[in-house]
Amino acid sequence: MNVVYDTALGERVQLIGPKQGRFTMYVCGPTVDNSAHLGHGRLAIVFDLLRRHLEKRGVEVVMVQNITDVDDKIIDRAKRSGRTPMEVAREFEAAWFSTLDRLRILRPTHSPRATEWIPQMIGMIAEMVDNGSAYRISDGVYLSVDRVEGYPRLSRQDRDELLAGARVEVSEEKRSPLDFALWKLASAQEYGFDSPWGWGRPGWHTECVAMSLGLLGEGFDLHGGGMDLVFPHHENEWAQAAVLGKRFCRHWMHNGLVEMAGEKMSKSIGNTMSLAEALDRYGPRPLRLAYLRAQYRSPLEMGEAVLEEAERALERIDDFIRRVQGAVSAAAAPKMEEFAAALDDDLDTPRAFAILFEAVRAGNAAIDAGQLDAARALAGSVAGMLDWVGIGLERLEIPGEIAELVAERERAKASRDYVSADRIRERLGELGYVLKDTRDGPVISRA
Ligand SMILES: [Zn+2]
Repeated sequence: MNVVYDTALGERVQLIGPKQGRFTMYVCGPTVDNSAHLGHGRLAIVFDLLRRHLEKRGVEVVMVQNITDVDDKIIDRAKRSGRTPMEVAREFEAAWFSTLDRLRILRPTHSPRATEWIPQMIGMIAEMVDNGSAYRISDGVYLSVDRVEGYPRLSRQDRDELLAGARVEVSEEKRSPLDFALWKLASAQEYGFDSPWGWGRPGWHTECVAMSLGLLGEGFDLHGGGMDLVFPHHENEWAQAAVLGKRFCRHWMHNGLVEMAGEKMSKSIGNTMSLAEALDRYGPRPLRLAYLRAQYRSPLEMGEAVLEEAERALERIDDFIRRVQGAVSAAAAPKMEEFAAALDDDLDTPRAFAILFEAVRAGNAAIDAGQLDAARALAGSVAGMLDWVGIGLERLEIPGEIAELVAERERAKASRDYVSADRIRERLGELGYVLKDTRDGPVISRA
């Protein structure tokens, strides 16, 4: 079980070892210079799905996702708006978490900020300079990729082609055009930190190595991110671990990108919709469904048509649950294991949702045939599947007067006034609501 496609090996691998109870994953997080867009949403959903799935399978997941809060784009934005880079970074970090909370993304176990890991990064860079794999030139400290065995080995590109492509922007002093900055020197007036090489800022590729190894240890289970991070970001993370003589992640996993109107979505093209805007317009459940119906590695065309189709699909599910009046049974759970097995297979969500919609069709047919027990069992499965992938059941909108009656009945029960309690239940029935007492308190549904 739990097979995923490993980017570095170019093949499917077993993700969880026999008897493995704990799983450690590192996923590259946002640069907090702007609002999250639909591409960020997909990254968040894909690794949230992996995490929820493993947890449902009984594996404890430790997840680290960093916050890149030192970056040229943050500094530029701060200059333009007359604020400090820290103020800008904290504002967009808070927005990131509140938007992801709305999308029902589980918060990472650890969310380290780059600015809080500067000493560890400097320590790593010093080690690379000491062992001869990094060198200082006039504008910073660089890693010499010639010292990295097999580079580039994650992206498995042709090194000569890479070199040919890189020559345009080569600095005269760099030993190879592919060498990348570990520490960028800056003038004393600029935002930065002190280091043995002078005032400056760390290169982006260094923070993830320091944080992943620092928080999860060598040989952690999985490193993830969007496919656009394979090269150069992840390639260069791995290169640093290699010259430090550290075992890096066991496996690499990358999600496909979001396209709008057939083009890769990026800020430079400008065809972006903010994630918060999509949440305002469609709500979290249709949005999650729209993301999850595509297999995570394929590109995802996102836009109004896809989101409206997801709304309609969710309506079919919710209609069915309403037809059984929320009376779902969790006992039998037909098709549930089939659904989970599809997710074990490289998170095959298209197959998983086909199984879910088949359960909805079968459940509706059972109601039509008067087989209510079968319908309730299938409704229980559908509820379980929705919960498995973080979509959940529709929350019934309860009008204030109904909620007040339910509260009044609870007070009556508490004072052992069962006559009043029964009368209120009857009144709720007249108003079109069914009230059931459960272990977790009263549950109200539409009659
Ligand atoms: Zn990273």
